[in-house]
Amino acid sequence: MKRVFSGVQPSGNLTIGNYLGALKQFVELQNESEALYCVVDLHAITVPQDPDDLRRRSREIAKLYLACGVDPNKATVFIQSHVKEHAELGWLLQCSSYMGELNRMTQFKDKSEGKQSVQVGLYTYPVLMAADILLYDATHVPVGDDQKQHIELTRDIAARFNGRFGETFVIPEPQIQEFGARIMALDEPTKKMSKSAENEGARIAILEDPSVFKKKIMRAVTDTENEIRFDEENKPGVSNLLTIYSLFAGESVDTLVARYQGQGYGNLKKDLVEVMTDKLGAIQQRYNELSDTDELDKILAASAERARTIAERTVNRVKDAMGLVRL
Ligand code: ATP
Ligand code: MG
Repeated sequence: MKRVFSGVQPSGNLTIGNYLGALKQFVELQNESEALYCVVDLHAITVPQDPDDLRRRSREIAKLYLACGVDPNKATVFIQSHVKEHAELGWLLQCSSYMGELNRMTQFKDKSEGKQSVQVGLYTYPVLMAADILLYDATHVPVGDDQKQHIELTRDIAARFNGRFGETFVIPEPQIQEFGARIMALDEPTKKMSKSAENEGARIAILEDPSVFKKKIMRAVTDTENEIRFDEENKPGVSNLLTIYSLFAGESVDTLVARYQGQGYGNLKKDLVEVMTDKLGAIQQRYNELSDTDELDKILAASAERARTIAERTVNRVKDAMGLVRL
C-alpha cells in the first residue's frame, strides 16, 4: 500500500500556496493511502522563532489540517518534536551526507542570502527532512514544486545508505501536482508565495479576513496589457491569478480565459475575491468550530504514539545496519 508522509513548518500563518500546493493533496491522499501529516516544528527553528508564537502556531497548523479536511481517523496528524526519532535519525543521516550535496540546495541559498549570521540547522535542514520521510518508509511525498530538490536529495541519501549498509530505506517518490504546485507572490509574481516572507502583501493566509485579502488581490501585480491570457513567462501575475481562481473554483483555465475575454483585470480580480471568500470561508468556519483544545490534544497524543511505533522500528534498523550497539 502507498504510504504518504508530508509536513508543514509552523514558521508563519499558512497561505493559500500551502493549501493549494500541499494541503489539498493531503485530503485527497488520505483516502487511498496510509497517510502521516506532520507539523514540522524542528524545521521551523532553523530560523529564529518567538517561543510563544511557535507553540501557538504549531497547534494552529494541526487544527488547520483538520479544518481543511484531514480526517484524524484516517490520517496520523502529529507534531514532529513529539517523536524524538526525527532528531535521532537526522543525526545518523548527517553522518551519511555530504557538504557538497547540501551546497547545491537552492532553498538554503535563497533563505541565507544577504544574512550576516545563519544557523547551522538551516544548512543541514534537508537532511532532517530526509529523516522525516525515511523514518516512515514513505512511498510518496506530496509537496509543492519548491521541495522537489529536497526529495531528490532524500532519494540519493537513501539509495547510498542502502548501497553501503544493505536494504534499509524505502526510496520515496515526490508527488507534485501538474498544476498549482507553485503559487506565486502577489506583489512579485516571479517569486513563490511563502508564509515567512517579509511582505504581508505578497501572500494570503488561509485564515485571513476577506476584507484583508480583497485589498491584496485588487493590488496584485499584473501587467499593462490588460489582456487575459495564460502565459506564465510573459504574464506571470495574470497567470498566477488564473491558477488560483481555477483551483478554488474547480474550473479550467481555458474556461476562465474564455469567460473574461475582452474584460479588464478588475472583473477577474473581483470574482476571484468572491470565489475565495466562499471557499476559505468554509475552512474558516470549520476551524472556528474546532475550538475544543482537549480534543486536539487527544488527537495529537494518539497520533504521536502511532508515529513513534513506526519510527522506533526504523531507527533500530538503521542503528543495526550502521553498527551501533543496541541495549
Ligand atoms: P517558509 O517560508 O517558512 O519556508 P512555506 O510557505 O514555504 O514557508 P513550508 O512549510 O516550507 O511553507 O512548506 C509546506 C508545504 O507547502 C510544502 O509542501 C511546500 O512545497 C508547499 N508550498 C510552499 N509554498 C508553496 C507555494 N507557493 N505554492 C505551492 N506549494 C507551496
Ligand atoms: Mg518553505
